[in-house]
Amino acid sequence: MVEPAIITTSLVTILGPPGSALGYAIRDFLYRSDVPFEWVQLANDAQARADAGVEHLADSRLPVCLFADGSRLECPTVRQITEKLGWFRNPARSEYDLAIYGAGPAGLSAAVYGASEGLKTVLIERYTLGGQAGSSSRIENYLGFPGGISGADLAKRAHEQVCRFGAEILLGREGVRADCTPHQMGGYLADGTKIVARATICATGVAYRRLGLPHEERFQGAGLYYGAGASEAALTSGQHVFVVGGGNSAGQAAMHFAQAACHVTIVIRGESLKSTLSQYLIDRISATPNINVLTQTEVAALEGDDVLREITLSNRATGESRTVATRWLFVCIGGEPQTHWASEVGIVRDAGGYLITGPDLVRNGRCPAQWPLTREPYYLETSMPGLFAAGDVRHGSIKRCASAVGEGAMAVALVHRYLANG
Ligand SMILES: Cc1cc2nc3c(=O)[nH]c(=O)nc-3n(C[C@H](O)[C@H](O)[C@H](O)COP(=O)(O)OP(=O)(O)OC[C@H]3O[C@@H](n4cnc5c(N)ncnc54)[C@H](O)[C@@H]3O)c2cc1C
Repeated sequence: MVEPAIITTSLVTILGPPGSALGYAIRDFLYRSDVPFEWVQLANDAQARADAGVEHLADSRLPVCLFADGSRLECPTVRQITEKLGWFRNPARSEYDLAIYGAGPAGLSAAVYGASEGLKTVLIERYTLGGQAGSSSRIENYLGFPGGISGADLAKRAHEQVCRFGAEILLGREGVRADCTPHQMGGYLADGTKIVARATICATGVAYRRLGLPHEERFQGAGLYYGAGASEAALTSGQHVFVVGGGNSAGQAAMHFAQAACHVTIVIRGESLKSTLSQYLIDRISATPNINVLTQTEVAALEGDDVLREITLSNRATGESRTVATRWLFVCIGGEPQTHWASEVGIVRDAGGYLITGPDLVRNGRCPAQWPLTREPYYLETSMPGLFAAGDVRHGSIKRCASAVGEGAMAVALVHRYLANG
């Protein structure tokens, strides 16, 4: 094998062909994890041989990751990179006071408060720290950061705080099943590991909603991206980017891409951004000459080969359709909670799958049939005593960083009440 010629100064150098979906997944993971990395897009077979040490551009060993210690991983999964970075661990205890699922703003906040208040706390996250907020290039309305802060930076600071107070973090581990009895809750991880805790906080947020179009899976990470794609901005230089969605995440993404792309088009179904976007972002977008907004429009089709090449835009008012060339489509149309595990054990959810808590469980002065205690559920408590929900996964929550952080802290106060009084 030819020795790679790349000398890396970043912690990780990723070498891959254009449009590599795995290359994108690795970039996204490292960006959100605040790990310095360099992406080397291989242009031809000769460069693939010289720089990546593989035979050609279509070699199945690509992308290759080179680490600062001289080691390399070929076509690695995100889990293998988590392991390589030394972040993949087994639980240190057989039982915890508090288990928290999901390390977005709500879970990170709960871990800080839980551990700092003396609870043996474990924080379980299926991907990396930061949640949806971690994908934001700049959060400008979070208290205490007048100049704004990137989601990755916010997650890094929270990580330091969680570690300082001694909470245990299990990354790359997904909770898939619950096994609950009062005062002892079991959560099963995807590999069968059981986590036992006296109380649990579910802070699993939401997963990105899909467009529901043919070929969506094929182009995912190869022209079609969910979320704000903060890791990709520099790569869009001089190109036309499309962002679908009218919420703050879409607005932030558009502003971010406008710095590199030649043009950014926001595609929304509604008649204007007024009802969905914060005024500060509306003002910024209006003042940015290379952003335009297509109202009453939806993406109707995706076309391409190995990568996305063009999209069809359909005007809902006139019924007219047109096809435009692009290799960059970012979908920011909100999310859906993934709470199937809760319905399996009879926990009450709303029609959208969000976990119902506290006063919302009480109808006409009566608790749901599943509720086994004489007291009413605490404010953030689900219909399973001792299991709390915080942040975006909770029915009726405000979808904001600050409210998720607030609910994480509040859930811990209610955990104390539950552990003391039942
Ligand atoms: C691009 C973008 C920009 C945004 N900008 C702003 C902003 O400027 N200001 C603002 O206030 N809000 C903003 N928001 C909204 C804000 O980020 C969310 O409201 C907030 O992140 C919700 O936090 P959360 O902890 O409840 O859930 P999430 O952030 O969704 O985190 C949930 C975490 O749980 C993990 N998880 C899910 N299922 C499991 C499982 N089974 N096991 C283990 N882990 C699991 C996920 O991987 C994720 O890390 C933005 C959102 C996006 C997407």
